[in-house]
Amino acid sequence: MEGLLYAFLFLFYYVSEMEMHETYIQISDFARELDAASTYELDLSDCYGCARCSSVCKVAAFAALDEPMTPRALLYRAVIGETKSIIESPFIWLCSGCARCEEACPQGVRISEVVRSLRRLALEMGRKNPNAARVNERICMHCGACVVVCPNKAISIVDGGPKGKVANVDPSECRGCGACSSVCPNNAIQQASLNYIEILNMFARKS
Ligand code: SF4
Ligand code: SF4
Ligand code: SF4
Repeated sequence: MEGLLYAFLFLFYYVSEMEMHETYIQISDFARELDAASTYELDLSDCYGCARCSSVCKVAAFAALDEPMTPRALLYRAVIGETKSIIESPFIWLCSGCARCEEACPQGVRISEVVRSLRRLALEMGRKNPNAARVNERICMHCGACVVVCPNKAISIVDGGPKGKVANVDPSECRGCGACSSVCPNNAIQQASLNYIEILNMFARKS
């Protein structure tokens, strides 16, 4: 009798969980669009909301002081299609791409790739990466020093500029670290606004 009761309780729990999961994976068109824009399968519907990603994200820890956004909140909003608040969030530009969130995720959700896709979509929608490095084309000698040091492979030498070739920054990849600025022999590339230390200090001052 007791065994039957446990079997019934287990069945009840299992069906409830399945129903919850089925409800949760009603992913939005926006989430599908994100998936399509990525070179990887993003598996947004695999997130079961444990928030381990948020617990290891250093940027969320600071960004939360000013604006309530975390990797987990971002995923959830993408799943339900709450596009506007994500695209307008400074969080997508502050994310360093460190992938600590992915390492912590027990479901293998590619969270930093989700952010990368969001950045691409935001740019397509006319938004700007406020921290992206900018090149002064008049004085860039296309030496390639910045290309070598960029940890995010955000810079390439392309045709253009008064000298025929010029450094070009991909704003969807640039995380605003300032490494390029520090090696340019001509001061031809500048991180647009602040470096990470300054950004973190800015948030710390508000606490
Ligand atoms: S990749 Fe971005 S969202 Fe993930 S832990 Fe790093 S800063 Fe946070
Ligand atoms: S390091 Fe400076 S001069 Fe050299 S390619 Fe980059 S921006 Fe141009
Ligand atoms: S600021 Fe950092 S991430 Fe951006 S282009 Fe320069 S080196 Fe690359």
